[in-house]
Amino acid sequence: MTSIVPQTAALLVMSALSANALAEAVAESMNWYRCNTHTHTSAPPKSDANASPEFVVEWYKAHGYQCLVITDHEFLTDVTSLNRKYAGRSDFLVIQGQEITQALIDESRPTGKRHFHINGIGIGRAIMPVGYPAGARGIAPVDMYARNIAQIQAAGGIPQINHPNLQWSVQLNDLLALESPFLMEVWNAFPTSNNLGGIDDTGDVAASTEALWDSLLSAGKVVWAVASDDTHEYYRFDDRLSPTPGQAWVVLQAAQLTQTAVMTALRQGRFYASTGVTLQSYEADEHGISMRLVQTPEWSPATSKPNTRVVTRFIGGGGRLLAEVTGLNPAYRFKGDERYVRAQIIDSNGRRAWTQPVFRDGRLKLAE
Ligand SMILES: [Zn+2]
Ligand SMILES: [Zn+2]
Repeated sequence: MTSIVPQTAALLVMSALSANALAEAVAESMNWYRCNTHTHTSAPPKSDANASPEFVVEWYKAHGYQCLVITDHEFLTDVTSLNRKYAGRSDFLVIQGQEITQALIDESRPTGKRHFHINGIGIGRAIMPVGYPAGARGIAPVDMYARNIAQIQAAGGIPQINHPNLQWSVQLNDLLALESPFLMEVWNAFPTSNNLGGIDDTGDVAASTEALWDSLLSAGKVVWAVASDDTHEYYRFDDRLSPTPGQAWVVLQAAQLTQTAVMTALRQGRFYASTGVTLQSYEADEHGISMRLVQTPEWSPATSKPNTRVVTRFIGGGGRLLAEVTGLNPAYRFKGDERYVRAQIIDSNGRRAWTQPVFRDGRLKLAE
């Protein structure tokens, strides 16, 4: 995959922020940076991917990314030596992180467990899951999440709820009582993450992760949507059941490629999530949202003009469809009664992007 993200283009871009942060964002020249926030390596002692941190960083750098969060299980893979290689060049940034592989013993489940994995992005110390290593007993999922989120924040990091539908583990009630803003994967490219939800033979229904996100937003939460690779396999690209790199990512806006700037963009929701749709620009102000999308080129541009089509759905409270707009310049004008408005973009080949909600009810101020 080649880079289709303009790394250095100065864009006049506003975002879904409070008025002050918005003014700050607009005042300076912002760049787009493509980043994967969920990445595994083979770093000892117990990581479960099949390539070294050096190999992994080089893979992402060579494939159109500018930043990477390494999130091995229960271990902080050292990124200092990795970043030293790029010092002074400002073209790639590695951020230290961990996937807190939280499990809950639940004999009613076929596997005997439910999974509540959560990433700590930019944390300064490792965090052990409750009941590690066997798994927690006698504690509610929401209390485990709250405990892990508090520890992530105390360690200077940003919490990211991972793959809610992995083994159908997370339900709305497990997240509703959480107070803090957090990131959540609406798309995790691990091949059995069940992002689209489903129903089993007993009639048990699980919402899609995107619908789960709307339920949280509709309940007044501040949740920013992430797409990520959850990479474990770096060689077997012919195996569609392997969690390989380069499938899902975020593109964030920051003035420069520093950990502070990237972390601020993630905290403030100044990014979009994607599995292949690229934004040329994004603007939001008190009147509405508008954006320009990049036309996906043909594999063989010499023989065919671009013909991929795209539709943008503007979505509000309750997951309600507010407007559906075709073409590369979708826009939505606020009517005045929306609590939030976000955009879901999907093209005629299944590639998607999700922009963050613009909150119209003042909740972002309350959360700061
Ligand atoms: Zn996980
Ligand atoms: Zn993972």
